[in-house]
Amino acid sequence: MKTVQTVNELKQIIAINNTKTIGFVPTMGYLHEGHQALLNKARADNDIVVASIFVNPAQFGPNEDLDRYPRDIERDTQLATDAGVDVLFIPSAEEMYPFESGITIQVGELSTKLCGESRPGHFDGVLKVITKLFHLIQPTNAYFGQKDAQQLAIIETFVNAYNFPVQIVRVPTVRETDGLAKSSRNVFLSEQERVEAVHLYKALQLAKITWEQTNDLSEAITKGKEHIESNTSGKIDYLEALSYPSLQPVTNETKAVLFATAVFFEKARLIDNILT
Ligand code: AMP
Repeated sequence: MKTVQTVNELKQIIAINNTKTIGFVPTMGYLHEGHQALLNKARADNDIVVASIFVNPAQFGPNEDLDRYPRDIERDTQLATDAGVDVLFIPSAEEMYPFESGITIQVGELSTKLCGESRPGHFDGVLKVITKLFHLIQPTNAYFGQKDAQQLAIIETFVNAYNFPVQIVRVPTVRETDGLAKSSRNVFLSEQERVEAVHLYKALQLAKITWEQTNDLSEAITKGKEHIESNTSGKIDYLEALSYPSLQPVTNETKAVLFATAVFFEKARLIDNILT
Protein backbone atom coordinates (compact mmCIF):
# COMPACT_ATOMS: atom_id res chain seq x y z
CA MET A 1 0.00 0.00 0.00
CA LYS A 2 1.20 3.48 -0.84
CA THR A 3 0.53 6.30 1.59
CA VAL A 4 0.22 9.68 -0.09
CA GLN A 5 0.02 13.09 1.53
CA THR A 6 0.09 15.47 -1.41
CA VAL A 7 -2.35 16.23 -4.19
CA ASN A 8 0.43 16.12 -6.80
CA GLU A 9 1.55 12.65 -5.85
CA LEU A 10 -2.05 11.45 -5.79
CA LYS A 11 -2.70 12.91 -9.26
CA GLN A 12 0.33 11.07 -10.66
CA ILE A 13 -0.87 7.74 -9.28
CA ILE A 14 -4.39 8.28 -10.64
CA ALA A 15 -2.99 9.27 -14.07
CA ILE A 16 -1.02 6.05 -14.47
CA ASN A 17 -4.07 3.98 -13.48
CA ASN A 18 -6.53 5.67 -15.80
CA THR A 19 -7.55 2.48 -17.59
CA LYS A 20 -8.40 0.69 -14.35
CA THR A 21 -11.54 0.72 -12.25
CA ILE A 22 -11.05 2.69 -9.07
CA GLY A 23 -13.04 2.12 -5.89
CA PHE A 24 -12.91 5.02 -3.44
CA VAL A 25 -13.69 5.01 0.29
CA PRO A 26 -13.61 8.45 1.95
CA THR A 27 -13.25 8.40 5.76
CA MET A 28 -12.25 10.55 8.70
CA GLY A 29 -10.06 7.75 10.07
CA TYR A 30 -10.05 5.95 13.42
CA LEU A 31 -11.15 3.02 11.32
CA HIS A 32 -13.45 0.27 12.58
CA GLU A 33 -15.42 -2.64 11.13
CA GLY A 34 -17.90 -0.24 9.51
CA HIS A 35 -15.13 1.30 7.42
CA GLN A 36 -13.74 -2.18 6.83
CA ALA A 37 -17.03 -3.26 5.25
CA LEU A 38 -16.74 -0.38 2.78
CA LEU A 39 -13.11 -1.25 2.03
CA ASN A 40 -13.93 -4.93 1.54
CA LYS A 41 -16.71 -4.11 -0.91
CA ALA A 42 -14.44 -1.69 -2.77
CA ARG A 43 -11.72 -4.35 -2.90
CA ALA A 44 -14.12 -6.93 -4.31
CA ASP A 45 -15.53 -4.61 -7.00
CA ASN A 46 -12.50 -2.74 -8.40
CA ASP A 47 -8.95 -3.02 -9.79
CA ILE A 48 -7.60 -0.29 -7.52
CA VAL A 49 -8.79 0.79 -4.06
CA VAL A 50 -8.15 4.32 -2.86
CA ALA A 51 -9.10 5.31 0.70
CA SER A 52 -8.78 8.74 2.24
CA ILE A 53 -8.41 9.83 5.85
CA PHE A 54 -9.23 13.46 6.33
CA VAL A 55 -10.93 15.06 9.31
CA ASN A 56 -12.55 17.74 7.21
CA PRO A 57 -12.69 21.09 9.06
CA ALA A 58 -15.31 22.35 6.58
CA GLN A 59 -17.92 19.96 7.94
CA PHE A 60 -17.48 20.80 11.65
CA GLY A 61 -19.32 23.64 13.38
CA PRO A 62 -17.52 26.01 15.79
CA ASN A 63 -18.65 24.12 18.92
CA GLU A 64 -18.20 20.61 17.54
CA ASP A 65 -15.50 18.01 18.12
CA LEU A 66 -13.00 18.80 15.31
CA ASP A 67 -10.03 19.21 17.67
CA ARG A 68 -10.73 16.12 19.72
CA TYR A 69 -11.94 13.85 16.91
CA PRO A 70 -10.13 10.54 17.57
CA ARG A 71 -7.04 9.87 15.46
CA ASP A 72 -4.69 6.88 15.14
CA ILE A 73 -2.90 6.97 11.80
CA GLU A 74 -0.57 4.08 12.62
CA ARG A 75 -3.42 1.70 13.41
CA ASP A 76 -5.45 2.98 10.45
CA THR A 77 -2.51 2.38 8.11
CA GLN A 78 -2.26 -1.23 9.30
CA LEU A 79 -6.00 -1.75 8.96
CA ALA A 80 -6.06 -0.27 5.45
CA THR A 81 -3.11 -2.45 4.44
CA ASP A 82 -4.89 -5.54 5.76
CA ALA A 83 -8.06 -4.59 3.85
CA GLY A 84 -6.10 -4.52 0.58
CA VAL A 85 -6.11 -0.75 0.03
CA ASP A 86 -3.69 0.27 -2.75
CA VAL A 87 -3.49 3.99 -2.05
CA LEU A 88 -4.14 5.72 1.28
CA PHE A 89 -4.52 9.48 0.87
CA ILE A 90 -3.92 11.42 4.10
CA PRO A 91 -3.78 15.12 3.23
CA SER A 92 -3.39 18.01 5.65
CA ALA A 93 -6.06 20.73 5.74
CA GLU A 94 -3.61 23.08 3.96
CA GLU A 95 -3.10 20.51 1.21
CA MET A 96 -6.86 20.12 0.67
CA TYR A 97 -7.72 23.80 1.00
CA PRO A 98 -4.61 25.79 -0.07
CA PHE A 99 -6.64 28.92 -0.80
CA GLU A 100 -10.16 30.20 -0.16
CA SER A 101 -11.99 30.47 -3.47
CA GLY A 102 -15.03 32.16 -1.96
CA ILE A 103 -17.17 29.79 -4.01
CA THR A 104 -19.39 27.50 -1.96
CA ILE A 105 -21.65 24.53 -2.54
CA GLN A 106 -24.98 24.79 -0.76
CA VAL A 107 -27.09 21.72 -0.21
CA GLY A 108 -30.35 23.59 0.34
CA GLU A 109 -33.54 21.82 1.33
CA LEU A 110 -32.09 18.35 1.99
CA SER A 111 -29.89 19.87 4.68
CA THR A 112 -32.80 21.48 6.55
CA LYS A 113 -33.82 18.13 8.08
CA LEU A 114 -32.41 15.70 10.65
CA CYS A 115 -28.68 16.31 11.27
CA GLY A 116 -28.65 19.29 8.92
CA GLU A 117 -30.96 21.19 11.23
CA SER A 118 -28.68 20.95 14.27
CA ARG A 119 -25.42 21.07 12.26
CA PRO A 120 -25.81 24.11 9.96
CA GLY A 121 -23.28 24.05 7.12
CA HIS A 122 -22.26 20.46 7.85
CA PHE A 123 -23.48 18.95 4.58
CA ASP A 124 -22.16 21.91 2.56
CA GLY A 125 -18.76 21.03 4.04
CA VAL A 126 -19.23 17.36 3.19
CA LEU A 127 -19.98 18.19 -0.47
CA LYS A 128 -17.02 20.58 -0.57
CA VAL A 129 -14.57 17.84 0.33
CA ILE A 130 -16.34 15.11 -1.65
CA THR A 131 -16.29 17.23 -4.81
CA LYS A 132 -12.55 17.78 -4.47
CA LEU A 133 -11.86 14.14 -3.67
CA PHE A 134 -13.99 12.91 -6.60
CA HIS A 135 -12.15 15.23 -8.99
CA LEU A 136 -8.76 14.15 -7.70
CA ILE A 137 -9.42 10.41 -7.53
CA GLN A 138 -11.89 10.04 -10.41
CA PRO A 139 -13.41 6.90 -8.90
CA THR A 140 -15.50 4.44 -10.87
CA ASN A 141 -17.33 3.53 -7.65
CA ALA A 142 -17.47 5.35 -4.31
CA TYR A 143 -18.60 3.62 -1.12
CA PHE A 144 -20.71 5.18 1.63
CA GLY A 145 -22.31 3.73 4.75
CA GLN A 146 -26.04 3.66 5.35
CA LYS A 147 -25.10 4.63 8.92
CA ASP A 148 -24.90 8.24 7.67
CA ALA A 149 -28.19 8.00 5.81
CA GLN A 150 -28.72 11.71 5.24
CA GLN A 151 -25.16 12.14 3.95
CA LEU A 152 -25.69 9.22 1.58
CA ALA A 153 -29.00 10.64 0.32
CA ILE A 154 -27.42 14.06 -0.29
CA ILE A 155 -24.39 12.62 -2.08
CA GLU A 156 -26.57 10.39 -4.28
CA THR A 157 -28.76 13.37 -5.19
CA PHE A 158 -25.75 15.63 -5.84
CA VAL A 159 -23.97 13.10 -8.04
CA ASN A 160 -27.17 12.45 -9.96
CA ALA A 161 -28.12 16.12 -10.36
CA TYR A 162 -24.65 17.25 -11.45
CA ASN A 163 -23.68 14.20 -13.52
CA PHE A 164 -20.60 13.20 -11.60
CA PRO A 165 -19.22 10.18 -13.47
CA VAL A 166 -19.21 7.92 -10.42
CA GLN A 167 -21.41 5.14 -9.11
CA ILE A 168 -22.39 5.58 -5.46
CA VAL A 169 -22.52 2.26 -3.62
CA ARG A 170 -24.56 1.94 -0.39
CA VAL A 171 -23.13 -0.27 2.35
CA PRO A 172 -25.37 -1.47 5.22
CA THR A 173 -24.62 -0.33 8.79
CA VAL A 174 -22.21 -2.56 10.69
CA ARG A 175 -23.16 -3.02 14.36
CA GLU A 176 -21.66 -4.27 17.61
CA THR A 177 -23.08 -7.61 18.77
CA ASP A 178 -25.62 -5.83 20.99
CA GLY A 179 -26.82 -3.69 18.06
CA LEU A 180 -24.98 -0.38 18.64
CA ALA A 181 -23.88 1.04 15.30
CA LYS A 182 -20.07 1.09 15.05
CA SER A 183 -18.75 4.63 15.15
CA SER A 184 -15.41 6.32 15.73
CA ARG A 185 -17.19 8.46 18.32
CA ASN A 186 -18.21 5.46 20.48
CA VAL A 187 -14.82 5.82 22.28
CA PHE A 188 -16.19 8.98 23.87
CA LEU A 189 -18.93 7.05 25.72
CA SER A 190 -18.55 6.34 29.42
CA GLU A 191 -19.03 2.74 30.52
CA GLN A 192 -22.59 3.49 31.58
CA GLU A 193 -23.37 5.40 28.36
CA ARG A 194 -22.00 2.52 26.29
CA VAL A 195 -24.56 0.24 27.94
CA GLU A 196 -27.32 2.80 27.31
CA ALA A 197 -26.33 3.55 23.72
CA VAL A 198 -27.81 0.33 22.36
CA HIS A 199 -31.23 1.85 23.07
CA LEU A 200 -30.94 4.15 20.04
CA TYR A 201 -31.23 1.11 17.81
CA LYS A 202 -33.88 -0.46 20.04
CA ALA A 203 -35.93 2.74 19.95
CA LEU A 204 -35.74 2.88 16.15
CA GLN A 205 -36.87 -0.74 15.94
CA LEU A 206 -39.72 -0.03 18.35
CA ALA A 207 -40.81 2.99 16.29
CA LYS A 208 -40.72 0.96 13.08
CA ILE A 209 -42.72 -1.93 14.56
CA THR A 210 -45.25 0.45 16.12
CA TRP A 211 -45.74 2.17 12.76
CA GLU A 212 -46.10 -1.15 10.94
CA GLN A 213 -48.67 -2.34 13.47
CA THR A 214 -50.69 0.87 13.92
CA ASN A 215 -49.99 2.89 10.77
CA ASP A 216 -49.74 5.83 13.19
CA LEU A 217 -46.42 7.59 12.65
CA SER A 218 -46.74 10.11 15.45
CA GLU A 219 -47.52 7.31 17.92
CA ALA A 220 -44.46 5.44 16.58
CA ILE A 221 -42.19 8.47 17.04
CA THR A 222 -43.53 9.12 20.55
CA LYS A 223 -42.87 5.49 21.55
CA GLY A 224 -39.34 5.65 20.14
CA LYS A 225 -38.56 8.88 21.99
CA GLU A 226 -40.00 7.57 25.25
CA HIS A 227 -37.82 4.49 24.94
CA ILE A 228 -34.67 6.62 24.66
CA GLU A 229 -35.77 8.91 27.48
CA SER A 230 -36.49 6.06 29.86
CA ASN A 231 -33.42 3.96 29.01
CA THR A 232 -30.63 6.47 28.53
CA SER A 233 -29.16 9.58 30.14
CA GLY A 234 -28.79 11.11 26.67
CA LYS A 235 -30.66 14.13 25.32
CA ILE A 236 -32.60 13.52 22.13
CA ASP A 237 -31.64 15.83 19.25
CA TYR A 238 -34.27 14.25 16.99
CA LEU A 239 -36.11 11.03 16.30
CA GLU A 240 -38.00 11.27 13.04
CA ALA A 241 -39.38 9.32 10.13
CA LEU A 242 -39.02 10.58 6.56
CA SER A 243 -39.19 9.14 3.08
CA TYR A 244 -35.85 7.85 1.78
CA PRO A 245 -33.85 9.10 -0.05
CA SER A 246 -36.01 12.19 -0.72
CA LEU A 247 -36.32 13.06 3.02
CA GLN A 248 -39.91 14.23 2.68
CA PRO A 249 -42.91 13.63 4.99
CA VAL A 250 -44.16 10.05 4.81
CA THR A 251 -47.31 9.52 2.73
CA ASN A 252 -49.20 6.47 1.48
CA GLU A 253 -47.03 6.59 -1.64
CA THR A 254 -43.73 6.48 0.27
CA LYS A 255 -41.76 3.39 -0.68
CA ALA A 256 -38.90 3.42 1.84
CA VAL A 257 -39.21 5.04 5.27
CA LEU A 258 -36.13 6.18 7.18
CA PHE A 259 -36.39 6.12 10.97
CA ALA A 260 -33.46 8.20 12.20
CA THR A 261 -32.27 9.50 15.53
CA ALA A 262 -29.48 11.59 17.04
CA VAL A 263 -28.78 11.66 20.77
CA PHE A 264 -26.35 13.79 22.75
CA PHE A 265 -24.37 11.99 25.42
CA GLU A 266 -21.87 13.75 27.67
CA LYS A 267 -18.99 13.77 25.15
CA ALA A 268 -20.52 12.34 21.97
CA ARG A 269 -23.49 12.92 19.74
CA LEU A 270 -24.49 9.53 18.30
CA ILE A 271 -26.67 8.91 15.25
CA ASP A 272 -28.42 5.81 13.99
CA ASN A 273 -31.17 4.87 11.58
CA ILE A 274 -33.09 2.02 10.06
CA LEU A 275 -34.85 1.77 6.71
CA THR A 276 -38.10 -0.07 6.06
P1 AMP B 1 -16.52 8.56 8.82
O1 AMP B 1 -15.10 8.13 9.00
O2 AMP B 1 -17.32 8.53 10.08
O3 AMP B 1 -16.64 9.85 8.04
O4 AMP B 1 -17.18 7.46 7.89
C1 AMP B 1 -16.66 7.14 6.65
C2 AMP B 1 -17.61 6.25 5.92
O5 AMP B 1 -17.82 5.06 6.68
C3 AMP B 1 -18.99 6.89 5.72
O6 AMP B 1 -19.48 6.53 4.43
C4 AMP B 1 -19.80 6.24 6.81
O7 AMP B 1 -21.18 6.17 6.51
C5 AMP B 1 -19.20 4.86 6.86
N1 AMP B 1 -19.47 4.23 8.15
C6 AMP B 1 -19.20 4.72 9.38
N2 AMP B 1 -19.65 3.88 10.33
C7 AMP B 1 -20.24 2.85 9.69
C8 AMP B 1 -20.91 1.66 10.12
N3 AMP B 1 -21.08 1.35 11.41
N4 AMP B 1 -21.38 0.82 9.17
C9 AMP B 1 -21.23 1.10 7.85
N5 AMP B 1 -20.60 2.21 7.38
C10 AMP B 1 -20.12 3.06 8.29
